[in-house]
Amino acid sequence: MKVPVADLVGQNSQIKFEINEAIQNQLNSGVFIGGPSVTSFESEFAEFIGVKNCIGTGNGTDALEIAIESLGLKADSEILVPAMSFIATAEAVSRSGHRIRFVDVDLFMNIDVEKLESSIGAETAAIIVVHLYGQAAEMSRILEIAKRFNLYVIEDCAQAAGTKYKGSSVGSIGDIAAFSFYPGKNLGAIGDAGAITTNSDTLARKSRMIANHGRETKYDHIFEGRNSRLDSIQAAVLSVKLKHIGIWLQRRQEIAAKYRKAFQENSQFVPLPILDEDQHTFHQFVGECNERGRVIQALEKAGVGTSVNYPKAIPMLDAYKDKFTDDCKDFHAVYMSHRILSIPVHEMLTNENVEYVIAQMNKIESDFK
Ligand SMILES: *Cc1c(COP(=O)(O)O)cnc(C)c1O
Repeated sequence: MKVPVADLVGQNSQIKFEINEAIQNQLNSGVFIGGPSVTSFESEFAEFIGVKNCIGTGNGTDALEIAIESLGLKADSEILVPAMSFIATAEAVSRSGHRIRFVDVDLFMNIDVEKLESSIGAETAAIIVVHLYGQAAEMSRILEIAKRFNLYVIEDCAQAAGTKYKGSSVGSIGDIAAFSFYPGKNLGAIGDAGAITTNSDTLARKSRMIANHGRETKYDHIFEGRNSRLDSIQAAVLSVKLKHIGIWLQRRQEIAAKYRKAFQENSQFVPLPILDEDQHTFHQFVGECNERGRVIQALEKAGVGTSVNYPKAIPMLDAYKDKFTDDCKDFHAVYMSHRILSIPVHEMLTNENVEYVIAQMNKIESDFK
């Protein structure tokens, strides 16, 4: 049996007629930038997240960068960034003219609240929180610290559309948030797409202007912005998919619960701890391996796809050679980068697929003894 780690063709063909209709309508309308499909998706997504404002952008990286820029921080301010994430989280800080300070992650692989305070310096202006793998970071304590030190909180929700924290959706908790609709994300477009969400009307207005050449009307440019808008076709497709996301996320949770139960005794693949199973959206299902290479090989031979998110902690990337400080070497993020493994958890898996992955993984457990 083949069990791929993602199945975008399957997901799209399941709702092919709705998607085709949305695309056809968009072609017939002759509107390709902005217009009703973008406005509708923005208000639907804001409602889904439970936040006042949503601004579509070209992709998730731009969303992060624009969100940071909208805060109007002093040039070269320091922003705290978790050491385990996709590079975009850090890139957005440098690209918007600020300095990165890496903070280690905790057992949940999210920014370590215990290490947050000691990382704050005189020039620290904001914290970027990543809800990695679809699991919310410890927002209550992060907000409390941010308030005490007068810092902005930016949420990187790229992997966490639909994730909740104490009942609120991520993306509605910090000052401003960025989402990615990269095809493989929980809510994926059929190309690049992203969004910013915020309860602040001021930050929303500023972000929207930055993303659209610093203007609100056609030729009145109030400041220099850039071009990062959500395509009309992507917006139309996203509106279709948003109707199904509830069922898809529920399916991910169902599969994750099965895995957690099945791998309780497995010493070769130990699932990462989870804060709250009902609020986690399992963009990835991640476990810790002693012998990751062997596990990957055995699964591959059995037809089960895997991925590693991510094989290098951000401070270890060549791109950040100059920002690497000696303490980074001892980061939990670095240790875990050699041990983590993601297995298939997407909504297109059948019960047979899930049982097969479980059987193969538990066979590894007995084979390796
Ligand atoms: C995917 C991702 C991004 C970037 O999103 P794009 O739409 O690919 O630009 C940023 N942060 C994290 C954590 C991501 O997983």
